[in-house]
Amino acid sequence: MTPHMDEKLEPIFQEVIQRNPGETEFHQAVREVLETLGPVLVKHPEFTHHKIIQRICEPERQIIFRVPWQDDSGEVHINRGFRVEFNSALGPYKGGLRFHPSVYLGIIKFLGFAQIFKNALTGLPIGGGKGGSDFDPKGKSDDEIMRFCQSFMTELYRHLGEYTDVPAGDIGVGGREIGYMFGQYKRITNRWEAGVLTGKGLDWGGSLVRTEATGYGATFFVNEMLKVRNDSFEGKICTVSGSGNVSIYTTEKITELGGKVVACSDSNGVIYHEKGIDLELVKQLKEIERRRIKDYVSYHKDAKYITGGNIWEIPCQVAMPSATQNEINGKDAKRLIQNGCIAVGEGANMPTTPEGIRVFLDAGIAYGPGKAANAGGVATSALEMQQNASRDAWPFDFTEKKLEDIMINIHADCFATAEEYGAPNNYVVGANIAGFIKVAKAMVALGLI
Ligand code: NDP
Repeated sequence: MTPHMDEKLEPIFQEVIQRNPGETEFHQAVREVLETLGPVLVKHPEFTHHKIIQRICEPERQIIFRVPWQDDSGEVHINRGFRVEFNSALGPYKGGLRFHPSVYLGIIKFLGFAQIFKNALTGLPIGGGKGGSDFDPKGKSDDEIMRFCQSFMTELYRHLGEYTDVPAGDIGVGGREIGYMFGQYKRITNRWEAGVLTGKGLDWGGSLVRTEATGYGATFFVNEMLKVRNDSFEGKICTVSGSGNVSIYTTEKITELGGKVVACSDSNGVIYHEKGIDLELVKQLKEIERRRIKDYVSYHKDAKYITGGNIWEIPCQVAMPSATQNEINGKDAKRLIQNGCIAVGEGANMPTTPEGIRVFLDAGIAYGPGKAANAGGVATSALEMQQNASRDAWPFDFTEKKLEDIMINIHADCFATAEEYGAPNNYVVGANIAGFIKVAKAMVALGLI
């Protein structure tokens, strides 16, 4: 089923483009949601009356700030920091911080917008937000990272709080960065307020399974899509792009469920290892030594490194894009289908272009959009907040089971909603509508704010 925009929604979308010029990723994210909402307005005329769609497309608050810092040689650098507090109808703003040179307002807004619906799908009390900076952490020393994080938090802290806005990690922000930011928040506010950031270290308020959560959750989601088709990961050849947090733990869970991951990547190239990716080596290279993925081949002579390669050209049955936005275009999607791909689960946010999505939907494969498939990360962040609020720390298996149950519920919710709205097996329709309705109902209930 090829999506198209309802005629009532088209002018709203045009206004979004006009009000947010040049923010192409944000336009893309809004279009993808609005294209599926036509039938919702028919069933819920009150949403039109309350202008819920227009309101949901306008962030509640957007913060842009200067982040000055000094490198190890004493040179001063200026970066730009962002926090877009998009929607707090269901709970405090919640969403990660991204440090990457490509970051600008349009990227943070696309991520924040998608986060509203994703967070609603988890069923937990969290609103949507996102933030970050155009700072490039690559090649920086530990001290430089610390000085940057401290400067970033010196401004951001005034906008945060466990009942206000609770950031986490994303691209370029992992446990180390969260640590430096939490330290600075604590110093400035004189409060040991665990619930203000998630993704914390296990010794100081973090939750077991948070590190693994996005990758594990995305794999659980795909497993559910496969189950519906009387299939499983057993014996499946898989490719997982990226080699960061989401990629690593997706690979780990796929392997546990009997699949074989034969390729991963970074922004410079692709590793193909027919025998199966050696995950312990990837963890050592990426999490501990912070090296590039090309170094993998110096340890495995039978693996190949393809400089500038395209991971989607490698035949697979399950593809899990886990690097960044728009990494699968229409041509890549066609190639995946031709090569026998039967399921795609998005660990990354918006990794497939609109053309690519069309190809997957038309082919009728199991396609799990990021909003649903990668919601396990933020869901486990919300579990971290629960533990913080009750000064508790749950065991690994207990927390992982909660994550798995949440992903099973999200899958069931999306599946049932897609059927209800006449688009069976279309998880884009299911995720957008199920997430939207929860937020829209809360917005109506809270009045015109
Ligand atoms: P990391 O920084 O840990 O890893 C990112 C990986 O993707 C790296 O291998 C990186 O390679 C690669 N990558 C990043 N940008 C590009 C690019 N422009 N082109 C090609 N490769 C790129 O980030 P995460 O694993 O945390 O995030 C990956 C994706 O998952 C993102 O889309 C993020 O929004 C999404 N996500 C993350 C969640 C989390 O809990 N961390 C939760 C939900 C979604 P290189 O080192 O060369 O840049």
